Amino acid sequence: MRKLKTAYELVEAYRNGSLDPVEHAWRVIEEIGRWEGRVNAYITLEAPEAIIIQAEEARERYRRGEHRPLEGVLVAVKDNISTSFMPTTAASRMLEKYIPPFNATVVERLVRAGAIVVGKTNMDEFAMGSTSEFSAFGPVRNPWDLERVPGGSSGGSAACLAYGGCDLSLGSDTGGSIRLPAAYTATVGIKPTYGLVSRYGLIPYGNSLEQIGPMARSVKDAALLLEVIGGWDPRDSTSLRIDPPKLSNLEPLEPGEASLCVPREMVEGSEEPVAKVFWNLMGKLESEGFEVLEASLPEVSKALPAYYIIALAEAASNLARYDGGLYPREDVEAGDYWRHVAEARARGFGWEVKKRIVLGSYALSEGYRDEYYIAATKVRRLVRDAVLRLARKCIIASPAAPILPPRLGERITDPLLLYAMDVYTVVANLAGVPALAMPAGFSQGLPVGVQFMAYRLGEDLLVRLGLTVEEMTGLRGVAAGEG
Ligand code: GLN
Repeated sequence: MRKLKTAYELVEAYRNGSLDPVEHAWRVIEEIGRWEGRVNAYITLEAPEAIIIQAEEARERYRRGEHRPLEGVLVAVKDNISTSFMPTTAASRMLEKYIPPFNATVVERLVRAGAIVVGKTNMDEFAMGSTSEFSAFGPVRNPWDLERVPGGSSGGSAACLAYGGCDLSLGSDTGGSIRLPAAYTATVGIKPTYGLVSRYGLIPYGNSLEQIGPMARSVKDAALLLEVIGGWDPRDSTSLRIDPPKLSNLEPLEPGEASLCVPREMVEGSEEPVAKVFWNLMGKLESEGFEVLEASLPEVSKALPAYYIIALAEAASNLARYDGGLYPREDVEAGDYWRHVAEARARGFGWEVKKRIVLGSYALSEGYRDEYYIAATKVRRLVRDAVLRLARKCIIASPAAPILPPRLGERITDPLLLYAMDVYTVVANLAGVPALAMPAGFSQGLPVGVQFMAYRLGEDLLVRLGLTVEEMTGLRGVAAGEG
C-alpha cells in the first residue's frame, strides 16, 4: 500500500508553492507508463505534451493568483461521457471512431474549473456490467491484485485512481457502477441524488436510473468534484433546479447528529470476510458514540429483478439509435437498409449488449409488458417508498458489495451470479437517493467497501459521515503498489 496526495492536498500544495503542477503531471504520466500495460484503465490517453502544456498554464495561473477550484488537477473521464476533443466509445466497437460534436455538461464544468482531462477510461460496453470485463478494448484489471477485476462498469475510472494514474475521475452509476468499483479498489465514489448532476452528454443506458458521479482517493476530493459538476443544467430536462451543492468545506459528523441503521436484508447475504470488516466498522462507530440501529427492508429482495427489467427495457429502447447510419461503421457496405442495420449491429455490439437488447425488448413487448416492465415499475415504487421512509430516520449502512473482488472470468460466465453483485447498490438507483461508497478496511489484502445511503439531496450528510469514517480507518489517499 502507498499513500498518494489527494486532489485537495495537491491544490493546497500548488497554492502555497510547495509543489509544481508540471512536476506532478510528469509523475502521473510516469505512473501511467508503469501500470497501464497491465491494468488497461484507459481507452484513450491525452498526449503527454498536451497534458504538460496545460499543466504549465496551471502553473502560470497559480503564480498570478488566478487559479480555479481544480486548477492543474488531472481528471480521468469515463468513456461514455462525451468529449469533443477525444473519442467517446462507451467501450463499444459500434462507436469505435466516434468523436462527439459537443462536450457533456460535466466536462464543460471540469474544464471551466481548471481541470486537465488526462484520458477516457475503460468500462463495460455501454456501462452494462459489474466487472469491467465486457469491454471491446479488453478487460480492466484491479491494481490491488492483477488477477482480479476492479468492479464495473466504471472500472477504469477506479483503477486509474488506485494506481496513481489520475487525481480524480468521473464515473456513471445506473445500478452501482460507481460504488462497486470504488469498493473493489479502496477508493471513494458517490452516486448523487437523481437530477443533481446533468446527464447531458452521457451516452444513455438506463435514463431513469443513472447519474454521473465523482470518484476519488478521499471523501473530501469526491465532495469537491461533486460541487464542481453538480447543479441545474437547462440542457437536461430531468435536472433539478437547484444551485451546485456546497460540500467541500464540511466538518465530520459528530455522534448525536444522525443515527445509522443497518437493514438486515442488506448484510445477511454477504460472504464472511466482507461481513466481518463491515461489522467491525459499525462497532467502531458505536464505540465512538454513534447509534447503529437494526432495521428491515424486505422490499430489497425484489429490488434486483425489478432493476434488471427496468434497466434492460430502457437499454433496448436507447440502443435502437445505433443502426450503423447515424454513427456509421466503415466495414459495413451500404445497400438494403435492414440488412445494413443487422450487419452493423451484429458486428458493432458485444454479446452482453445483444443479450440485453433482446431481453429488454421482450420485457416491453405486446402481451408481456404488463407481466414484466409494468410489474417492475410497481416494485420500484414499493422499494422507493420503503427506502425513503427509512432514510428519513437514519443513514442506511451496508456493505457496498456482498463479495470480495472476484477473479477475472469467475463471474461473467453465469449472468445470475454476475448480477447478484449489485444487490446492495441498485436500491439507491431505484429510489433516486444519494449513496456513498468508501473503503471500510481490507481482508486478505483486498479492499472491502462500505455504502451509506441518505434521503434525497442528503449528500452533505453522507460527506460528513464519510469524513468521520475516513478519520477512523485512516484510509485516505491510499493506492496500490509498494512505497
Ligand atoms: N451492473 C449493473 C448493470 O449491469 C449496473 C451497471 C451500471 O451502474 N452502469 O446494469
